[in-house]
Amino acid sequence: SPSSHNLPSSSAQGIENVVIIGSGPAGYTAAIYAARANMKPVVFEGYQIGGVAGGQLMTTTEVENFPGFPDGISGPDLMDRMRRQAERWGAELFQEDVEFIDVKNSPFTVQSSEHKVKCHSVVVATGATAQRLRLPREDEFWSRGISACAICDGASPLFKGQVLAVIGGGDTATEEALYLTKYGRHVHLLVRKDQLRASKAMQDRVYNNPNITVHFNTETVDVVSNTKGQMTGILVRKVDTGEEYVLEAKGLFYGIGHSPNVQFLEGQIELDSSGYVLVKEGTANTSVEGVFAAGDVQDHEWRQAISAAGSGCIAALSVERYLSSNN
Ligand code: FAD
Repeated sequence: SPSSHNLPSSSAQGIENVVIIGSGPAGYTAAIYAARANMKPVVFEGYQIGGVAGGQLMTTTEVENFPGFPDGISGPDLMDRMRRQAERWGAELFQEDVEFIDVKNSPFTVQSSEHKVKCHSVVVATGATAQRLRLPREDEFWSRGISACAICDGASPLFKGQVLAVIGGGDTATEEALYLTKYGRHVHLLVRKDQLRASKAMQDRVYNNPNITVHFNTETVDVVSNTKGQMTGILVRKVDTGEEYVLEAKGLFYGIGHSPNVQFLEGQIELDSSGYVLVKEGTANTSVEGVFAAGDVQDHEWRQAISAAGSGCIAALSVERYLSSNN
């Protein structure tokens, strides 16, 4: 395991080595590594998103692509295991949302409604939230026909060989539509505007794929089901004529984007043009020395549990290196 020599002996002066913000795969992995390296990490798990700790995977059923679980594992079970692993090595967990940080003054400050913690370093791992449409029957069919992640759910038996639909007109939606043609029989791309926003290259790939039909000026109203409660189609409305009709489909994928959870950072570290935390490529280093970022909050491209966990590992090892070299 990584060495833990020369770390500042923090708690004595009331200054923690590291505060980790977030409790998804990135935050817990950073916590496991930091705890095992004797850094005694303090973790603010957050609760506001979904009302529980554990991040986005708390909202899904089976995770089939996380290595080590050949038969799949439920999202909440996977997150509970990560949490217990972090706790076992001595991470201190607070189920509170961070409201404010100050990384312009040293030592840094991280503050929730109940705790104000001084620290030498911070890992931001607050993830991103998949935007939802708030369709009337969305909650009923979430993970049972409606999904926000084609890579995660496309191969599910629920969708294999079926007619599927994707909402959105940008790069995410077009990528999801192309990806889903590997599994679905046909994919409808539902676009509210009269054109695609995706890059020209993506547009060409979509238009050249005979298994994708693009529906412009098309708004999604709700999903429809049969008497057994299974999703059978999507009620859509033509924006220009107001005409409504049902498109047959067994799956509906949201490709309307994600919002990184960065509100509490307010001008403290640099964000990119889409609002994600900016890190130096291939590292966890943000614009402020001693502040690191991991997972979906800094990654608008891959957005997977394993890549989030991997970047959490890199962030914790970077913290260790940073603290050792500053001691
Ligand atoms: P998140 O999981 O988003 O966790 C962020 C955490 O930070 C949350 O606990 C949140 O409450 C907390 N937080 C936010 N703000 C604050 C704050 N101010 N203070 C304290 N805490 C805060 N990926 C896969 O690899 N396989 C799958 O099968 C899969 N299925 C998915 C299914 C669904 C429905 C969704 C939405 C995503 C799925 N993903 C899947 C993607 C995967 O969940 C994410 O890539 C991964 O969870 C990102 O991890 P993260 O640690 O960066 O952030």
